[in-house]
Amino acid sequence: MIPILLTIGGSDSSGGAGIQADIKTFASQGAYGTSVITAVTAQNTLGVKDTFKLSPEAVVAQLETLKEDFNIDYVKTGMLCSTEITSIVADQIEDLCVPLVLDPVIEAEAGGTLLDRSAVEVMRKKLIPLARVVTPNIFEAEALSGVKVIDQETAQKAAEKILNFGAQAVIVTGGHLEGTDFLSGDGALFLILGDKVEGGNHGVGCTYSAALATFLARDYPIKEAAFAAKDVATTSISRSYFVGKGASPVNQMGKALEDADRFQVLTEVDRAVNLLMSEPSFGLLVPEVGSNVGMAIEGAKDYLDVAAVQGRLVKSGRKAHQSGCVRFGSSKHVARIILAAMSFDPRERAAMNIRFSRSILDVCEDLNLKLASFNRKHEPSRAKTMSWGTSKAIAEAGFFPEAIWDEGGMGKEPMIRLLGSSPAQVVNRAMIIAEKLGESDGNL
Ligand code: PLP
Repeated sequence: MIPILLTIGGSDSSGGAGIQADIKTFASQGAYGTSVITAVTAQNTLGVKDTFKLSPEAVVAQLETLKEDFNIDYVKTGMLCSTEITSIVADQIEDLCVPLVLDPVIEAEAGGTLLDRSAVEVMRKKLIPLARVVTPNIFEAEALSGVKVIDQETAQKAAEKILNFGAQAVIVTGGHLEGTDFLSGDGALFLILGDKVEGGNHGVGCTYSAALATFLARDYPIKEAAFAAKDVATTSISRSYFVGKGASPVNQMGKALEDADRFQVLTEVDRAVNLLMSEPSFGLLVPEVGSNVGMAIEGAKDYLDVAAVQGRLVKSGRKAHQSGCVRFGSSKHVARIILAAMSFDPRERAAMNIRFSRSILDVCEDLNLKLASFNRKHEPSRAKTMSWGTSKAIAEAGFFPEAIWDEGGMGKEPMIRLLGSSPAQVVNRAMIIAEKLGESDGNL
């Protein structure tokens, strides 16, 4: 059964934070989202221009109507605006008797008050004791606890104070520190390690707490939910929408899109490799070190974002044998080629390496492939050959090549790398080359 979540918070007209962020996050992580709006903000990516509080009756009416119809599994609160609404929401949640993720929203990242200072005391007294988890950032943790949070030690101190107000657990999010979150509660302290991620920041707190509520509603233990929510938040930042003139809204669909992209990439590489294995002359193109086919996800950052064949494709007579299955992180070599190529053209996400010989190069020329090359003699001592060579060949060619070759060096096998936008494209080229070579009966 799909979990039903309820977010109680403010509408963000810019679409990046608030109720809009929560509903997108719930949906992207497999939950059904309902909402109770406490206030309508007139805001864009530059900040909150105006806030229109809803009346207590309007808030209660929304809640009562939802209660009549839905079995709500989890509640998440965000912008509660005023003392009165904070108090009413606390009463309603107590009555509802459903676990709560409390995001103690006080101010917007780009500027603008989202909770009257006088409401903080009500939040401490009435709402925090109802919370399964409270998710402050360092500023919110300070506002709630009075402890200035500057590092792990102070985050822990602040968390302990908030626990003493009656919450079962507290996660002080580390986005304004080094990126690591601090989970305290259930008798333990965990660090949810993370790095500072490049991208937008509008809506990240809402996205994190909505994801956390979703995973808790899906019965994840709190530590696992915290890791999973961090992953959703991190990917939402790295895939932010660069729209508007101010703080870029994070992309709540980022994780779901990345997961879909990963699946697509695995499928494409797998299909292309299967096709290649059916080519009767492909063995003629396999170098001593083996061949591999790879493809990267959109916006790939390292080799873990590139899928290739585990253990490579090895020569087996005139054909080739696939050593393992297609996985992400299987080939640092192919990954370096692709990542370097993508730095010139992000659409060029696929590559494979084949054997170098004069006759193979001749076939490539006969096929009018756009060729570029590099010479290992010029390689700086600490360089990674694939990254350096690929970048050098493309930069010197002045165009994006379909194949890059080099004649090898001391103990280094010469090689040709086929580049393209999909594994099907590069494998197709390799099959044509193999076929042509096979016609001349492997005349090497
Ligand atoms: N607007 C609303 C309605 C919110 O609920 C929030 C945060 O919870 C924000 C704006 C602020 O978003 P941010 O500080 O991430 O930009």
